[in-house]
Amino acid sequence: MIKFNIPPRTGDELKYIADAIASEKICGDGKYTLECEKILEKKFNSPKVYLTTSGTTALEMACMLIDIQKGDEVIMPSFTFSSTATSVVLFGGVPVFVDIHKDTMNIDETKIEAAITPKTKAIMVVHYAGVGCNMEVIMDIAKRHNLRVIEDAAQVVNALYHGKYLGTFGDVGCYSFHETKNYSMGEGGAVSVNNPELIERAAIVREKGTNRTQFINGQVDKYTWVDKGSSYLPSDMLAAYLYPQLLIMDKMRNDRVNSFNYYYEKLWPLKDKGYIDLPTIPDNCIHNGHMFYIKCKDLKEREALQVYLRKHEIGSAFHYIPLHSCQAGLKYGRFVGEDLNTTKESERLLRLPMYYQLKKEDIDMVVKTIEAFYQGEKE
Ligand SMILES: *Cc1c(COP(=O)(O)O)cnc(C)c1O
Repeated sequence: MIKFNIPPRTGDELKYIADAIASEKICGDGKYTLECEKILEKKFNSPKVYLTTSGTTALEMACMLIDIQKGDEVIMPSFTFSSTATSVVLFGGVPVFVDIHKDTMNIDETKIEAAITPKTKAIMVVHYAGVGCNMEVIMDIAKRHNLRVIEDAAQVVNALYHGKYLGTFGDVGCYSFHETKNYSMGEGGAVSVNNPELIERAAIVREKGTNRTQFINGQVDKYTWVDKGSSYLPSDMLAAYLYPQLLIMDKMRNDRVNSFNYYYEKLWPLKDKGYIDLPTIPDNCIHNGHMFYIKCKDLKEREALQVYLRKHEIGSAFHYIPLHSCQAGLKYGRFVGEDLNTTKESERLLRLPMYYQLKKEDIDMVVKTIEAFYQGEKE
């Protein structure tokens, strides 16, 4: 059995969790939370990182920070996880979907301007599969139209675009530490608050709308309710699980990238013969090996391949059902422009096993099985 995903761990997690418990401070903002935030700020050159309870709540916190209100429109790809859209809808905003690029599955930045209306408040980009969107063009559009930018950076922890860490381009970047992501605490996430004007308020909205952080720092003499807010702080025990992974962030990334490159090399002959397509990594991107996907001819072939892999005890997965064609997407959002790639390309995509310390011989087995499928099918 080759699993599709195994949650990342270093082996040191229990030691740090035990230490967190022994410290008798297991709520939010304990020692490990602060340590994790410090590591991420330093590594990504981010002005302020806050751990959150999930990637989803990181996105919600970002929407609260940029003040998404009823009727505000947010431009995003339709090819993404539901959280990208639900975070906007939660505040009464409207997701406005545009098409994606075929080669990276990232938002097609040339389709953004046509979707801008007087109600547009923000652009929410999703960096898919560890690969950055075209942030130069997107930040330029945002500047010219006075729009905010939120990065759904759930999949790009420790990945770069033009030498700058993804998640630090927009007003707020949102990371996920779910068990399916590159670095994990089971359920968790983080925001990188990049716009200095939002940093003070970020401390308030995550602390249930109170100025508790300012109180702790001695900036005010009592703490009270001052703004909108929620509770976005994870337990320090979860941060203790994440901590040892952040200590070896690059080693973990290199391990995944090696697996990615090995898959690529081994699957190239199938691509060369025209059976499958492989992902594209633009020259200016350093990706983090978040996932490895192939593209089949069409939906029917992908379904058959997935069944075939399952029969050979190999896990695989597809996603996403484009949000604009989902029940809630039809109700809460709209698609602008033509759906040239979103539906067609999502139906072809199949994700192969990928996790920290995936074995070479397992990749060999996956590739051999895919080759056998295409030999049986086509030759
Ligand atoms: C995983 C993911 C999320 C949600 O993160 P959670 O931590 O599971 O809440 C949001 N957007 C994208 C693109 C993701 O991959």
